[in-house]
Amino acid sequence: MYENELRALLMGAGADLVGFSCVRDELPEELKIYPYAITIVRKLAKAVTDTIQGAPTMIYFQHYRMTNTKLDLLALDAISFIEKQGYLALPIAASQSTPDEKEEYKGVFPHKTGAVKSGLGFIGKSGVLITEECGSFVRLATVLTDMPLEPSGEVHYSKCGTCTLCRDACPAHAITGEEYIPGHARKEIFDAKKCSEHMKTYKHIGRGAVCGICMSVCPYNKRI
Ligand code: SF4
Ligand code: SF4
Repeated sequence: MYENELRALLMGAGADLVGFSCVRDELPEELKIYPYAITIVRKLAKAVTDTIQGAPTMIYFQHYRMTNTKLDLLALDAISFIEKQGYLALPIAASQSTPDEKEEYKGVFPHKTGAVKSGLGFIGKSGVLITEECGSFVRLATVLTDMPLEPSGEVHYSKCGTCTLCRDACPAHAITGEEYIPGHARKEIFDAKKCSEHMKTYKHIGRGAVCGICMSVCPYNKRI
């Protein structure tokens, strides 16, 4: 009922894509009171991502952080709208992943779960969301809410096919080369710990928080 208004609000304020989904089954027990997800997508600037030539750059790191901030601000706009309609909304920050006690590098709620369930794209062999419109150089934020929202699309399966460019380019050997099947564990395709450990080797560039090499070789970004 409020999907069109929310989409218009967020796209007007700078989102590149907006999706809606019901994620009740994927939420931890304490969050099931907010079963609907709004996924907000913002594309990274091509002039910035083009600077990644075999290693991340300071320009990429700064733009990455700025984009996360923009997404968090967009989430605030969604919250204001939702609360005015008498519902509750819980923001999941764009950057949220920290190692837990098992070193699983998980956030409160994975943005990609909402993105895939709302039909915004598919998960590539590199473990990132790939969208037709913006490729995979995107950042995401999520707002969970009790405002009923109709799903905006169907789940898409992997369209990587026989491509292995990201696996071959990954200096950490963190990508297995398997295609992602919705519902399967992330570790089947991607070793988050290896990826995170490798990022720490770029402490001099982006405080060890970014890499982006796998996305820089992805054909879905070359065509954008
Ligand atoms: S971000 Fe870097 S280390 Fe992580 S999977 Fe991609 S290429 Fe490998
Ligand atoms: S580089 Fe190829 S295999 Fe990797 S995510 Fe992109 S399309 Fe899929």
